[in-house]
Amino acid sequence: MSTKRIIVIGGSAAGPKAASKARRLDENAEITIIQKASDLSMASCGYPYYIGGFFDDRNQLLCSPAGVVRDSKFFWNAKKILTQVDTEVTNIDRKKKEVSYVNLSTGEKGTALYDKLVIATGASPRKPPIPGIDLEGITTLQSLNDADFLRKVHDEGKIKKAVVIGGGLIGIETCEALHLAGIEITIVELLPQLLTFLDKQMAKLVEKYVQSKANVILKNGVAEFLGENGVLKAVRLQDGTEVLCELAVVAIGVIPNAGLARACGLQTGQTGGVVVNEYMQTSDPDIYAVGDCIEIPNLITGLPVHAPFGDLANLQGRVVGENLIAGNVAKFFGTIQTGICKVFDYGVGATGLCEKNAVKSGFTNIETVVNASLDKPGFMQGKLLITKLIVDKDTKRILGAQVLGPGEVSKQLAIWAMAIQGKMTVDDMVNADLPYAPPYSLAIDHSIATAHVMQNKLKGFFKGISAEELHAKLHVFDPMFLLDVRNPDEYEQLRLGIGEMLIPLGQLRKRLDEIPTDKHKEIVVWCKISLRGYEAALILQANGYTNVKVLEGGIMAWPYKREL
Ligand SMILES: Cc1cc2nc3c(=O)[nH]c(=O)nc-3n(C[C@H](O)[C@H](O)[C@H](O)COP(=O)(O)OP(=O)(O)OC[C@H]3O[C@@H](n4cnc5c(N)ncnc54)[C@H](O)[C@@H]3O)c2cc1C
Repeated sequence: MSTKRIIVIGGSAAGPKAASKARRLDENAEITIIQKASDLSMASCGYPYYIGGFFDDRNQLLCSPAGVVRDSKFFWNAKKILTQVDTEVTNIDRKKKEVSYVNLSTGEKGTALYDKLVIATGASPRKPPIPGIDLEGITTLQSLNDADFLRKVHDEGKIKKAVVIGGGLIGIETCEALHLAGIEITIVELLPQLLTFLDKQMAKLVEKYVQSKANVILKNGVAEFLGENGVLKAVRLQDGTEVLCELAVVAIGVIPNAGLARACGLQTGQTGGVVVNEYMQTSDPDIYAVGDCIEIPNLITGLPVHAPFGDLANLQGRVVGENLIAGNVAKFFGTIQTGICKVFDYGVGATGLCEKNAVKSGFTNIETVVNASLDKPGFMQGKLLITKLIVDKDTKRILGAQVLGPGEVSKQLAIWAMAIQGKMTVDDMVNADLPYAPPYSLAIDHSIATAHVMQNKLKGFFKGISAEELHAKLHVFDPMFLLDVRNPDEYEQLRLGIGEMLIPLGQLRKRLDEIPTDKHKEIVVWCKISLRGYEAALILQANGYTNVKVLEGGIMAWPYKREL
């Protein structure tokens, strides 16, 4: 049998993973990675932390787990994979099974034949055609060169004000990195909320927290970059406001690098990504595609999505590596779009569908709850977690979860991601056997407690009201009766200040005469996280009140102004 020639286009995450897996399965295949950038296997997800000074050695972004820099020498010596860096593939000739390339440093051109080809060209940041976008001081954060530039900004300490355009994952992570360099940041976001994968209330909680570190401007875009002598001085927003700044980072999303694939006639989809089947094979059986340049199905809706995540790129690369050698044996089915980002001392993430996307995808009968609690006992310095859970009411299937807070957000999301991927229901989750010891969780883990709250709601034990709904109803003509059931000292320190009465839970049974006599009056009750609120609601219901609602997540999940 003749030696298999494999060419991989793109040498950062998905490409090298495919090449390395193929090598592990076939010592004799001729494997070449052609990489446009100067470096290989860059840990782009680490760029914000390099810029922010979490570590100083740039090589750590390029190292294998054993601490060896993954350069061309490493790929050849350790893996017998040939790499051509600074080299861009410019054309794919599917008839001849040949790629054309150009070396970007020397201008030298060449061609190479393949038996199997992998396209792993990633994605490029969107750069809107705004006047002044080419001024000095405007960058994106996608390449290692961008990270080098921003790290220099951090180290030189000359820049005082920066604008981050886009309140998505990369925008927020960049905001933290630059904030750590002592730079005053303004985030400008066109949409009415940060982090669009969150529902409004959760995003508002993030916004409130980010506002303690940076200025946040929503519902406003950049109309023009203003400069002097070719250097950025300010941005003018669509409403005319001018924000002075010496640096602007444009982080308004990425688009799949599918141009090469499109040009050679491969099918691309409605998201702009290359279309692949579950073997990661394009419309040409000898060409595979992986990573940020493709679209894949959302496993809940079945609809194609562009999911530019590093973990998925690596998983897909592994699948392709196996299929390159063994024929189509390994499958990658799709994504539930699990993502997380660090927002200063908070973790924020989501998995599955958010409420608005569940509705958009045709789930007409959904239930949601917001639950707040510590991640472990107070005596182990437990930290706050706030979760919004979304389920299909008909089947009780878990559709999505959003988690945020200073607590162990990643663990919570991992639990929900597995529950969603395993098509679990709320009833499956209420008795989940998770690990417990005080340094790690509560006896009933926050995720299970969230499922309990959802189950109680589905069983009709209580009616919930979200902070958003309550806030919207605050100025109605017939006011609700608002009841805080915490202790007076807690109330003194922090309260909603929206006209509520304080009756501590322990006194409620004795002070029922202070509650309106109309048993059908709408009553909203809460505490810090609404566990006591729930118990108070049960007492009121037992005393004949028919319209009692618990403020979900209590004071901790209230994203609006509170009184101190
Ligand atoms: C700042 C930042 C933070 C991130 N943080 C996270 C995170 O925390 N979690 C997460 O899951 N994901 C994160 N991501 C996303 C993650 O990095 C990507 O999903 C992942 O890198 C995609 O891998 P890929 O191999 O498909 O593409 P890339 O890593 O983009 O690699 C594609 C490579 O292809 C090369 N190339 C392109 N065109 C050609 C051509 N014509 N010829 C030859 N070579 C070509 C490019 O030079 C590039 O190096 C982050 C991304 C960035 C930029």
